[in-house]
Parts: sequence; structure tokens; C-alpha cells
Amino acid sequence: MSRRAAIALAVGGILVSAANAQSCDQTTDHAIGLHGGAYTNGENITDAQMSFIRELAASVNIDLASGMDAVSAVEKAVRAMEASALYNAGRASITNQEGYVENDASIMSGNDLNAGAVGSLIDTKSPIHAARLVMEKSRHVMVVGDRGEAYVRELGAEEAPDGWFVKAGSEKDEHGTVGAVALDRCGNLAAATSTGGYDAKVPGRLGDVPVIGAGTYADNNGAAVSATGHGEWFIRHGAAHSTSLLVEGGLSVAEASENVLARMARSKGYGAVITLDTGGNFAAPHSTKGIIHAFASDDAEAYSKKTSGDMVGRENN
Ligand code: ASP
Repeated sequence: MSRRAAIALAVGGILVSAANAQSCDQTTDHAIGLHGGAYTNGENITDAQMSFIRELAASVNIDLASGMDAVSAVEKAVRAMEASALYNAGRASITNQEGYVENDASIMSGNDLNAGAVGSLIDTKSPIHAARLVMEKSRHVMVVGDRGEAYVRELGAEEAPDGWFVKAGSEKDEHGTVGAVALDRCGNLAAATSTGGYDAKVPGRLGDVPVIGAGTYADNNGAAVSATGHGEWFIRHGAAHSTSLLVEGGLSVAEASENVLARMARSKGYGAVITLDTGGNFAAPHSTKGIIHAFASDDAEAYSKKTSGDMVGRENN
């Protein structure tokens, strides 16, 4: 039996697990949404970025169909984007004002609200894997800086090999934070986000990405959300958590996300989110010019796009 067939083996409606698969009453819906960052002009977006994210959505969608759990799906997707050297995360993160990379990442499980986050890591190969280790192997949610990095090394996070980071210097206006939201066949949501941060940040600056509720949130009662854009505003607005709460209160994923982005835009905080609910409904609104994003589900073939429509909340700005 092939590996995929083994993972997919279902007995009496119960998925039986192989690597990263899970046991539950089998549901039919599953979905994966990815983003490769909000952007302000878009001139530097490459075909490679667009095709990579589409193919990744297609491949993780197959994993989800085979029973992979949502947390593993978002970790797998973000890890692949970190290693691709195509986005501002992991390997190709932009550098801070002093010319070195400081990576932030976080991950959250919508089933039990378990979460893990890392900030300001300078030599960890996969920040999102480190965040998952914090979530699953420690009693904490967030660790940062050199002491946090020593701790995730103890938990098993691999050091980046020599030459891993490819950016020579901080480049103005270059974005490309990555994120993922997933719904698995057990009906669980998860979200993950990873970034090198914002243009020319000062050493030690943490943005929204490691802050659970700001850049990342997942709650099966609401939504899975991953943000990108001006992190300080996402923190001030508790943006990812607010979006999930609005979905829980009855708004659609698009209405909830647009509501939060519009509030931020009133004080000229701009960005974008990807949001997914347990019905497999997905939205990727932006108050920036666009957001690189991709989606695939049990009833939608994988696609990638640079925008999802008009810029939100820009009428009065
Ligand atoms: N939100 C990220 C930060 O502020 C940057 C981005 O998404 O472009 O660190």
C-alpha cells in the first residue's frame, strides 16, 4: 500500500492515522488558505512566488484530504515557505537596521486554544517549527531573544546552517510575511504566521506575528486568522482575535476581516488577513494594494491571486 493510501485508510467512517493524521468522526470539509504577504506596490512580485504558493496549497490540500490535522498542515505550509527563500520569512527574511535577521513566528490550534510563539530568533532554521515546539513541549506560549532561542534549541529546534539566510541588507518596502489557515477533516481550525518583520526595524522589535491575538489566532468557535502588514496596528487592535470574535458573533469571514481592517485604516494602519471558518469559508481582504494568497479545499481547486478586490477602508484616506 502506498504511504498516501495508508494515511487515507478509513475504517467505518473513522480516519486511522499515519504520520500527522488523526482519529475522528470523518467529515468531508477541509481547506487550506495561505498568504505570502501584503504589498504596497506589487512591482517585485514574481511568478515563482505565485506558482510556489499555489502548488503548496494544492499539495497541503491533498494532505488534509488524507487526514492530516490542521496544526500539522499549517506548520508544513509555513515551513515550506520559510525554506523557499521566496518570501520575507525564514531563509529570505529581511534584516533589521543592523543588517541581521530576527525572525518571529506563531502557531495556534483552534480546537483547544493551545498556542506557541517565538520572537527575535537569529539563527533558528525554522521559526514556525520552534513555535510549535513551544506550543507542544513547554508550558509556555511565547519565548523571545537569545534566552528563548537557547530554550527552543533544547526543545529540538534546529540551528540554521552556515549561509542559510540570503538577504544582505534591509530593503525598504519589501514585505512577504507568510501565513496559513487550515480546516481539517475533524472540523478543527489552525493558524500559523512567520516573518522577518517590518522594514528597517530596530533590533529587538517584535511585531504582531509572535503576539497571539494580533497576527495569529484560531478558535473553532470563530475563525483561523493570519495577518500581514503594519504589525504595530495589528497589535493595537488585537486584530486576529477581534476577527475571530466577530465571526463567532455571526459575521461572515469577509465581513469580520474587513471590519477590523477598516478600523485599523482609520488611523492609517494598513495590512491584510486570511480568515477561514469551520464551514470552509475563506476571505483574504486587504487595505494595502493586495495580498499574495492561495486557497484550496475539498470543493475548490488550488488557485493563487494577488488581490481579492478593492482596498478596504481607504475611501477617506
Ligand atoms: N506584520 C509583520 C510585522 O509587522 C510584517 C508584514 O507582514 O509585512 O512584523
